[in-house]
Amino acid sequence: MIKRPLRLFSAEEQDALVKVLNRVDALGNLWARGFEVYPVDLDSRFVDKFNYFKNELRAQNAKRWLVRIHAIFNVGVRLANERDMGQGVFIDLTMNIVRLRWVIKGRAITISLTESEAKYIRDRLSEGGKPKLARAWVDGENLYIAITFERDVESIQLSDRRLVIDVNSWRNGIVWALVNGKVGSMGRERPNLGCIEMLYKHVTKLGQKYGALKRLGLHKSQYGRRLWREIKATRRRLYAYLKDYAQKLAHKLAQKALKYRAGVIIDDVLEESRRGLMEEGLPNGLAKVYMLYLRRFVKLLTNQLEWYGIPYEFKRLPSTICPVCGNELVQLPNRLMQCPKCGLKANRDEIPIKWALILANL
Ligand SMILES: [Zn+2]
Repeated sequence: MIKRPLRLFSAEEQDALVKVLNRVDALGNLWARGFEVYPVDLDSRFVDKFNYFKNELRAQNAKRWLVRIHAIFNVGVRLANERDMGQGVFIDLTMNIVRLRWVIKGRAITISLTESEAKYIRDRLSEGGKPKLARAWVDGENLYIAITFERDVESIQLSDRRLVIDVNSWRNGIVWALVNGKVGSMGRERPNLGCIEMLYKHVTKLGQKYGALKRLGLHKSQYGRRLWREIKATRRRLYAYLKDYAQKLAHKLAQKALKYRAGVIIDDVLEESRRGLMEEGLPNGLAKVYMLYLRRFVKLLTNQLEWYGIPYEFKRLPSTICPVCGNELVQLPNRLMQCPKCGLKANRDEIPIKWALILANL
């Protein structure tokens, strides 16, 4: 994703970017609901591309479908001497620039690529990816351009191994295991809980101070405003930390599946984790933090698995039912689980993995 402060553009470009892209966002909602709106003030290719790619977007974005529809562009790339065919977004890797068209009539807006952006695009291309579409939008003070690549995936030759991934709250972590008839290596991935709790406590404490000021009607004072800014900044830091962690972990696990050529089994039923956190008596706000970006993690993970052609399936993997006899397990201290009927004793994290072995006939 390319992100650029609007102030880097000329006044004419800034004006056009804000006006046109926001207008497409607004109209996109109507297009998505099937209205035939052909606004004369916009390049007609915005409607064309929307109609051309809409099924794609629906599949990608089923839940958030009606939230925001961004301007869609077709994409062209120049690696060596390919011709610029006037696509909506043209990426020229010989000069490391992107040309964004249709926003200003008759000319393109040129954006220089950073080294890492150019490298990202090159990497996707060298893996056999083809740019499919780009979306552009303006949010706050920034222009965003996101490019989607697709790949003709030869399905990879799978080994007998499977990678089982049990998604829990961040507090309990995401448990993975490589299995092949039995459990091979296993691990639990967790962000730094101390850091999360510290940031959360800090936000809470500041929030209480701010609340007290508000009751006194002093929250608009200089001190109050500073407090409010600090609350927002700390919260942003907390969110950014978790978001980044989720992204890196998705990458790490997808690479692990690729390395071992292992099909992937995912349990992403999060309701139980949420209840678990409440039962532990965690403050509501902290429980929420521990559930942040888990959906996003699963989405990023499956996107990457699809990219590499690794099959995956979702399976409900129980953690409180005995995988030997089916009896309800009893929880002992230290996350140990015991079956009162057959005597099985195992760490709570291992139960879902044992279930995966049974359910996937491994
Ligand atoms: Zn049992």
